Amino acid sequence: MGGERFCDLHLHTKWSDGTLSVVETARRAKRAGFSAIAITDHDTVGPELTAPFAVIEGIEVISGVELKADIFGERGEILGYFIQPRHPALQELFAWMAKARVRRMQEMVRRCREVLGIPLAYEEVAARTEGSVGRPHLAAELVKHGVAATFEEAFDRFLGQGGECYVPLPRASSKRVIEAIQAAGGVAALAHPKLLPFPDFEEVLRRLKAEGMAAVEVDYPYSEEENQTSIPELRMLAEKLDLIPTGGSDDHGPGSVRETLGLVRVPYDVVERLSALSSVT
Ligand SMILES: [Zn+2]
Repeated sequence: MGGERFCDLHLHTKWSDGTLSVVETARRAKRAGFSAIAITDHDTVGPELTAPFAVIEGIEVISGVELKADIFGERGEILGYFIQPRHPALQELFAWMAKARVRRMQEMVRRCREVLGIPLAYEEVAARTEGSVGRPHLAAELVKHGVAATFEEAFDRFLGQGGECYVPLPRASSKRVIEAIQAAGGVAALAHPKLLPFPDFEEVLRRLKAEGMAAVEVDYPYSEEENQTSIPELRMLAEKLDLIPTGGSDDHGPGSVRETLGLVRVPYDVVERLSALSSVT
């Protein structure tokens, strides 16, 4: 197989919204020919990851995370690589996020009571899940109370952005997110930049670099509308600004909304460059 090695540095598992465990994801990526992967679940690090780095099922597995962040007023995500999974700086950020989610949902429930005149309590919504409470749980309550016929209607009319009962979820600033990743020994990368509506990415990347970001996700399976052609531009900017060009498929596993493993193959030396900047070399 030539000897060239590849990695995929953006994968989700069942610990956020993927379908497979970490072990199953490792096995699948190994079969797909990868030498290394990073597990980057949304705002959490699954219990299967216990060190910044491990060999699982014969493949190198980097402990990562994909954190929601307020990036200069826009809603984006920042990836962290080679993190200490249970580091207090991350735990603190996760706890802040969990609290923000609860407060936001309480406010949305209050608006539903006012706007829709239904006798709904936050506790009823929260009782629908053992995990973190979100808008799908509230949508189910609106259907149950008969103010929306379907889930989709609940979102379209009331719970979606711009809806009468919508409250935005507060996000930690990029600075705070990057600091938490660094405190946990990790390296921060801007995730899928072209999903952000910035007109000038050079300026944005410079500002994030000043906040401590060391990498940027260049290779990503953007859809056609999302502008695949932007990848060479990002690669050029990464080089110009001395940011490590990472990449990944953002795969969520078989049978998920996003089954993209294999669409992105990043040269293995990116793993070595990230590792050299982390505190686990
Ligand atoms: Zn992702």
